[in-house]
Amino acid sequence: MSDITRLYPQLYALSERLLAAGQLAETDLDRAIDCLDHPELRSVACIGIPSRFNLWETPAFSNVSYARHLQIIEYLSRADASAMMLLPGASLSTRAILTLGNEQQQARFFACFEERPTWTFFAVTEPDVGSDAGAITSELTHGEHGWRLNGTKTLIGGAMQASAGLVFARYRHSQRLVMVFPDQTRPTLLRESLGTVGLAGAGLTRLVFKDHCVEKEDILGHERRELLQGLNALSLVFERHRPMVAAMALGTTFGLLTALDVRPLPNAARRWVARQWRKYHAVYRQMLTVAEGYSNGQHQHALTSQLKRNATRLVEDTACHLPHWLNSNDWLQDRLLRKRYRDSFAFEYMEGTSNVHLLNSFRPPVSQRVSP
Ligand SMILES: Cc1cc2nc3c(=O)[nH]c(=O)nc-3n(C[C@H](O)[C@H](O)[C@H](O)COP(=O)(O)OP(=O)(O)OC[C@H]3O[C@@H](n4cnc5c(N)ncnc54)[C@H](O)[C@@H]3O)c2cc1C
Repeated sequence: MSDITRLYPQLYALSERLLAAGQLAETDLDRAIDCLDHPELRSVACIGIPSRFNLWETPAFSNVSYARHLQIIEYLSRADASAMMLLPGASLSTRAILTLGNEQQQARFFACFEERPTWTFFAVTEPDVGSDAGAITSELTHGEHGWRLNGTKTLIGGAMQASAGLVFARYRHSQRLVMVFPDQTRPTLLRESLGTVGLAGAGLTRLVFKDHCVEKEDILGHERRELLQGLNALSLVFERHRPMVAAMALGTTFGLLTALDVRPLPNAARRWVARQWRKYHAVYRQMLTVAEGYSNGQHQHALTSQLKRNATRLVEDTACHLPHWLNSNDWLQDRLLRKRYRDSFAFEYMEGTSNVHLLNSFRPPVSQRVSP
């Protein structure tokens, strides 16, 4: 297995910075964000944004392949996946804009990155709807006053500080993705920060749209055929993001197992840790296989779901054993370890729960039931 730090030795220093930011984020979010303000971290966070829109690209992190990107995410998550999620930069919505937006829409969306990397959000989940994205009730309408957006979205990552975002809304008998540019002065979009137990860096937010004005140019693929809209379009976007969730879960597993490695443990625990490492390496290899498939243009819904499920199960299983294998003082005194423990259980709920993947991964994209 390749060691990504041989290619990018600067990742050592960047992971130290993430570790510091993650600890600050527990009490002081603004200082944590300041701590993340570093040229190479900015460049890493903006991987995936095309160079023509990306002023933050550094030579070391330009033209990064998908496999390398996943390896970088995995490596940095060994330090603190939550702090990595706090970074402003590329997100699900930037991938969606690149997949579905025209050149003008892409330019308008990425304009918010001109002064500095910013946060963007991708809003699908609604209260009482959850995984069933086909049942969303947020609605885009057209009347004598123009286009309007109404509805409530919940559990939306990074939306409190975001300068731009995409909202998945019902339009007549199908769905559309709508670009939204939050503006504190407009009361038609209310944002409320949600408390979380794990992965606080995700910055989960509730959004309420009340007759929010939308420009026609901000509706993605408005003129396109139905097939390229709605759930099918969402599937395309999520497919490439799920391996990133797996990479974060894997990196967090690495952090947990390393913490066990350096402590005195009973023999049974040592054998168990060795088994978990073997599973970690197997899932890591699966991640690289998935990355290679995408680089060769393959569609691999089932394999991607399997990877995500394997990685999230591994991190949860490892975390569940932690309080039992460690002596109680060790466990109670290590705040970082307890934070990693809390983070471990949030990955399964990102990009579709395991149940939903088990039900849907073999279905063709058109009829697929997807989840953010
Ligand atoms: C860290 C984090 C970041 C997130 N970021 C975003 C974001 O940026 N944008 C966004 O839109 N959402 C985001 N989400 C929301 C996430 O995608 C939702 O948690 C997910 O859609 C699940 O929705 P829910 O909580 O309502 O659970 P539900 O979908 O209601 O599921 C509850 C339980 O029921 C099970 N279940 C559901 N349907 C079935 C079925 N048919 N058969 C069997 N079991 C079933 C599920 O597996 C789960 O165990 C984020 C969540 C987290 C934790």
